[in-house]
Amino acid sequence: EVKRTGKNATRFFTPALNDATLARLQMESQLRAAIRSDGLNLHYQPQVNANTGTLTGLEALARWEDPELGVVSPGEFIPLAEDTGLIVALGTWVLREACRQASAWQLTVPVSVNVSPAQLVRADFPEVVRGILRRYGIRPSLLKLEITERLTILDPEQTSRNLQALQALGISFALDDFGAGQSALASLLNLPLTEVKLDRSLLTGVTEDPASWRVLSAVMDLARGLDLQVVAEGVETHQQLEVLRTLQCETVQGYLTGRPVPAEKITQRLQKWKLAASDEIDWT
Ligand code: C2E
Ligand code: MG
Ligand code: MG
Ligand code: MG
Repeated sequence: EVKRTGKNATRFFTPALNDATLARLQMESQLRAAIRSDGLNLHYQPQVNANTGTLTGLEALARWEDPELGVVSPGEFIPLAEDTGLIVALGTWVLREACRQASAWQLTVPVSVNVSPAQLVRADFPEVVRGILRRYGIRPSLLKLEITERLTILDPEQTSRNLQALQALGISFALDDFGAGQSALASLLNLPLTEVKLDRSLLTGVTEDPASWRVLSAVMDLARGLDLQVVAEGVETHQQLEVLRTLQCETVQGYLTGRPVPAEKITQRLQKWKLAASDEIDWT
């Protein structure tokens, strides 16, 4: 009896598993092709001063629309790229495209690019970044690299050496998804960071629930105690913005002040600003 149940279970589950594996393998080869053939695309999301609405930076976010699969969300293809090692080639493509675009825009605020542990640990990473900056004539102070708290840093010594080499050039680093609660904070804080980006989960409930407010306030105190600038991510409502202003958060990024949009949309906004001939880009 037991044996037959086992056999049935096997018959029932094996084909499903195979389908999932096959689909994943197919997606992997489609993603590889997209990286090779400029099939990816970037959207950009503004970061603005919480009090003045002035543009302080743009975050580049990878997008993928496959001819067969349609739009695949970063929540799906980034983990796939991480698991398969494709993230190194993908990450280099993103860096190059973001710098090319920043140069075309003659951007005066930093462009932020997300980088993965697998990129940071490679001995050639500083040289790859330097080469891209040189190629597009981008000042290092106009590049910010975002490192997520969600993934474990590989070989902390090598990673730290790489980041210090890039910091010496003038590149800055932000700790992304801060407060998402997955990291060994002590080891991350050995890295040359200048900024933390509060995970948007920290904003949930802050306008109604005193406990949530106190957690946000404590996390901001922690960041300040470590001399780190604070960017709040995922700001969707005026009420959340008010709370962040009260807590003296410098910079916000979220649907309220601008969704991620294709480069052309940013170009239009920047042109309007240049016509206004003001020193600072008023984004709102
Ligand atoms: P992230 O770096 O933390 O980027 C912020 C994410 O929050 C983006 O999701 C953005 O679209 C979303 N977002 C921004 N404002 C709001 C808001 O007000 N409300 C809500 N609900 N969401 C908001 P996206 O573009 O889907 O990217 C997801 C994640 O994928 C990114 O999180 C980042 O970790 C990763 N990712 C994206 N592009 C790259 C890349 O080029 N390289 C690497 N390594 N990771 C990337
Ligand atoms: Mg998403
Ligand atoms: Mg990010
Ligand atoms: Mg984040």
